[in-house]
Amino acid sequence: MTDPNQRSVKINASDLTDIKCDKCGDLRFEPVFLLKRVSALISPTGKDETAPIPTFACYACGHINLGLLPREMRPQTSEEQKIVSSKLPELSVVSPDSPTKE
Ligand SMILES: [Zn+2]
Repeated sequence: MTDPNQRSVKINASDLTDIKCDKCGDLRFEPVFLLKRVSALISPTGKDETAPIPTFACYACGHINLGLLPREMRPQTSEEQKIVSSKLPELSVVSPDSPTKE
């Protein structure tokens, strides 16, 4: 019988694709934690909690590839990312009694 816990798949490291830092191209990563604050409203304990999310950051520059983020933390599209990073447009206030040009 084969042990289901024991994997017999042979993996040759040279067959694998390297993950490079999107920013500087370094191949080395170190484990880091992203911390999320869990509001008491949604926390299972009813108190403010901190939720650590493990991921990997570039060893050289500290950048975290989007592909290494949990799926729910990745921006859906580059356009959405643009919206988040760009400033909100100033609202132009139009007073109702402003004279109209004729
Ligand atoms: Zn880097």
